[in-house]
Amino acid sequence: MVQGQKVFEALQWASSFLVEHQRDANAGEILLRHYLQMSRSQLFANQQLVLPEQVQKDFYKAVRMHAGGVPIQHIMGYEEFYGREFIVNQDVLIPRPETEELIVEAITRTKRMFPDQKDLKMVDIGTGSGIIAITMKLECPYLFTSAIDISGSALEIAKKNAARYKADISFIQGDLLIPIIKAKEKVDIILSNPPYIPNRDIEVLSDVVKDHEPHQALFGGFDGLDYYRRLMEQIPEVIREKALIGFEIGMGQGEQVAEILRKSFPQSVIEIVNDINGKDRMVFCEI
Ligand code: GLN
Repeated sequence: MVQGQKVFEALQWASSFLVEHQRDANAGEILLRHYLQMSRSQLFANQQLVLPEQVQKDFYKAVRMHAGGVPIQHIMGYEEFYGREFIVNQDVLIPRPETEELIVEAITRTKRMFPDQKDLKMVDIGTGSGIIAITMKLECPYLFTSAIDISGSALEIAKKNAARYKADISFIQGDLLIPIIKAKEKVDIILSNPPYIPNRDIEVLSDVVKDHEPHQALFGGFDGLDYYRRLMEQIPEVIREKALIGFEIGMGQGEQVAEILRKSFPQSVIEIVNDINGKDRMVFCEI
């Protein structure tokens, strides 16, 4: 490593080093922005800036770690979601941009279906880092929000994220909706991004995902649909007469998940929604 590199030189080194290791070349820019605490435009306005020694050391180390497979979010300790930073570690799924689209759609439907905003209860199942529950609560503060996860260590992260943004959420450790059923509570809105990757797809997953994110948060059984099936056995017990269900799904699972919902709620309006890449990514059910 040559000391006293400029921003553009460090970025050039990072992108070719990362490509050599079959990683995304853009990771270098994100990491350097993190260590310099600069926005994208600041970084580009400072191409000739000589890197402070410590920044250069940290940056080289981080790029090498990512080349070796460590997710950049684990190196930095956070990921951005819906304009906010969320703490992440190996105990939670790293937030994905697709889930931001679930939020957009869920907010639109919540506002349309429940315009008077009164006494509305929402639950996020398998909350992980807490992104869905926390973002919904911050965007729609009138929602009484609960978030469930089976993993105690995931809930610790979710609680930290909620505290950071002062989101008032009731966090519960438990298996899917069982805590709500036991408490005989009723809810209006159910959102979930459950583990939905078919078990056999472990073969084709990148090592960045497979070796660093919790398998419990990734895999959903033989066809990836186990959690949707289990949820559909439980949901009828917890919903009010009028309710909204929103699931994130894996590409190609739309029809099957819609069918699972249709069986339990034949009278409902079910919609498969594509993400910005044109892939089926969400299913909503209005009851
Ligand atoms: N709800 C969290 C998210 O959307 C965690 C999802 C999961 O672990 N499957 O990122």
